[in-house]
Amino acid sequence: MVKQDTTQRFIFSDADIRGELVHLNQSYQTVIQQADYPENLRRLLGEAMCAVVLLTATLKFSGKLSLQLQGDGIVKLLLVQCTHQQEIRGLLQWQDNNEQLSFRELVQNASLAITIEPEKGTRYQGIVPLDGENLNQCLESYFLQSEQLPTRIWLTADAEGAAGMLIQKLPAKELKESRENKWEHITILAATTTPSELLTLSNETLLYRLFHSEEVRLFDTQPVIFKCTCSRERCEETIISLGTAEIEAIIREQGHIAITCEFCSTSYYFEIDRLQDLSREAAQKEKEDRSNPETR
Ligand SMILES: [Zn+2]
Repeated sequence: MVKQDTTQRFIFSDADIRGELVHLNQSYQTVIQQADYPENLRRLLGEAMCAVVLLTATLKFSGKLSLQLQGDGIVKLLLVQCTHQQEIRGLLQWQDNNEQLSFRELVQNASLAITIEPEKGTRYQGIVPLDGENLNQCLESYFLQSEQLPTRIWLTADAEGAAGMLIQKLPAKELKESRENKWEHITILAATTTPSELLTLSNETLLYRLFHSEEVRLFDTQPVIFKCTCSRERCEETIISLGTAEIEAIIREQGHIAITCEFCSTSYYFEIDRLQDLSREAAQKEKEDRSNPETR
């Protein structure tokens, strides 16, 4: 049985190689139910969700990792985010899709960025070259170029679930030819996995099927859950950032603001009284900004 909505680490005991397996079910269903996704875009979204969980699992940090694809082609925006506690959310916006289109056609005129936002410390952003035939190939070349860590990634998604596997060569304490051979051997074995195996086999069965002659240590599973970070307070911050003139115009023309979160479909409604408070807060902020020009 596949352990639903989990991520699980494994290591090869006599090699500097680690791996991670992810299965998304409820969390994936919650995300894909937010819009009427065509099959090819739903798959891309599921694969991106698995990728962001796998990437987060390779890092030791407290914070949030995002994968954001933005462009003016078919996919206008693909945004998936995962925290160090495996809380995940995602969305995809598109135009003029055709279900036959390949990954390369879907992401034409787009750029892909990985952003790491630690709770403490500085934000990091890396650009992922979109030169592969699919998302995993693009991420593999990113790892090779930026992190110098040879990494292989497999991603898949269907109507029920999404799954992924990552294998990564860790920096070796000493250079040995045998380790190089080991990496090649393990990745050849891993590459024999099929999308259907990734989706349906339990991690124990899959690892045995792929690496039964290797010594593999499997760690405890970690739960992955859908969690959105939207809130009434965040919406208010956004409204204040519009500025008092804009808020006053909305009050005159509409008398209210309704904001629906695109990640989770929660609606936030602001009546005229609250908007007037927010307009005053915006005016106050603008006054402060004018008197402290250096903080702008
Ligand atoms: Zn939300």
